[in-house]
Amino acid sequence: MARIAIGGFQHETNCFVEPKTDFAYFAAHRDRPPLVYGADVMTWLTGTTFAMAGFLKDMGRHELVPLLWTSGGAGGLVTRDAFERISASLVGRLSEAMPVDAVYLDLHGAMVTEDFEDGEGEVLRRIRAAVGPAVPIVISLDYHANVTPEIVALTDALIAYRTYPHVDRVETGEYAARAMQAVLERGRPLGRALRKPPFLIPLNGQCTLVEPSKGITAGSKVVEGDLVNLSYLAGFPPSDLHWCGPSVIAHAWTQEAADRAADQMLAAIEAQEARFAEKMVSPEDGVARAIAVARTATRPVVIADTQDNPGCGGTSDSTGLLKALIAAGAQGAVLGFLCDADAAKAAHAAGEGAEVRLALGGRSGPEGVTPLEAAWRVAKLGSGKFRTDGVVVGGRDVDVGLMALLVLGGVSVAVTSKRLQAYDQAPFRHLGIEPARQKILALKSTCHYRGEFEPIAEEVIVVLAPGYYLADPVAYPFRRLRQGVRLRPQGPEFKGATANPR
Ligand SMILES: [Zn+2]
Repeated sequence: MARIAIGGFQHETNCFVEPKTDFAYFAAHRDRPPLVYGADVMTWLTGTTFAMAGFLKDMGRHELVPLLWTSGGAGGLVTRDAFERISASLVGRLSEAMPVDAVYLDLHGAMVTEDFEDGEGEVLRRIRAAVGPAVPIVISLDYHANVTPEIVALTDALIAYRTYPHVDRVETGEYAARAMQAVLERGRPLGRALRKPPFLIPLNGQCTLVEPSKGITAGSKVVEGDLVNLSYLAGFPPSDLHWCGPSVIAHAWTQEAADRAADQMLAAIEAQEARFAEKMVSPEDGVARAIAVARTATRPVVIADTQDNPGCGGTSDSTGLLKALIAAGAQGAVLGFLCDADAAKAAHAAGEGAEVRLALGGRSGPEGVTPLEAAWRVAKLGSGKFRTDGVVVGGRDVDVGLMALLVLGGVSVAVTSKRLQAYDQAPFRHLGIEPARQKILALKSTCHYRGEFEPIAEEVIVVLAPGYYLADPVAYPFRRLRQGVRLRPQGPEFKGATANPR
């Protein structure tokens, strides 16, 4: 039996979106648990679809010391205040819990703060300082982590999700538990390797339901031969840091094994550079196609509003696709989820069945995005408190604030008060909408929607309406990225902040 400190501190930072992510945002209960401390970590995380839940499943025979767990989702830079307060609690609680035999952290891996471009690297540096050189540190990361040399050097096992949509978070935690067991038995592994393919991969090209990402992730390993782990992470392009982009990581009991495995996987990725791609069209073309297909289809046509995905830092109140649906006279269309707390409040004040004149969404930019002002019919109201039940984020008791279903012509809009990616069907049902029975489902999501909605869809169309996630990383004004990296597969090279080849 070992004494293992456990915790989680997650953020996926889009450096190009305005509002920063503050302490209150981490602390709030949203589409995930609030910031929880000590024993509350077990209460909130056990049985959920987070990696921590998978780790907890298999570690019952050890003495676990829960520190804290929080996820700020995706959004703008993490404030100094939030980072320092949460890090201080995490490290302070760890120091009080010493001595421990090992540490497990459920991290994301794409955190950028006001002070640190590698947020997790800084957290791990402090954790390592607290536990000293002998104690193994095992981490699990999101598939969208931007892994740095510091993260690899400071840890002893690094396990990543192998799927996007992320349907294997729990398994990832179980793998982390397996790696933990191995390093507890054999000690800190000496071999470490990090390889960075020389190009960024847009999120739209990272889906593991299709090649080449499907085959690449299938090559991942946990505790096999001399390897502790061989992990592939696709990276999160909207994070502006030197080491942004995909990574291959190996931890092993010999350096030779780590190098060999990492080199092999890197070669396979580089050989497939031309294959990372997804077809995308304008909102107008996408809506026209959806209406045409929906005429004879028996299942909904899904339109993905990929660039306003809150999971990538989008504000979720962009109106480009909504306006295209209205302009084209779409019928039987439902859009979700548009974040507008004021609209939800006004709808609740008016009551079900009432008509309210309001300017919906479109208040957060980017430039050119405006609200859709109209007389909306309030078709249904909801508390925003319900349990998710799908394959991607199921099992969460969420609180996304007041919700309302607003209708204009043949288009219904599912409105939330807090940002919510369209990666579960429960929020639609909460508003009386059965997704499978709609003609058109317009979803603010980049890839996660595929886990839950592709199986019920007649066809999936990805559109490029304005939003803060840019599907083509070439368009981001990077400042810190390393020179020479290609901004997309086979794309132009980054030549420094002043020569962004836009
Ligand atoms: Zn992710």
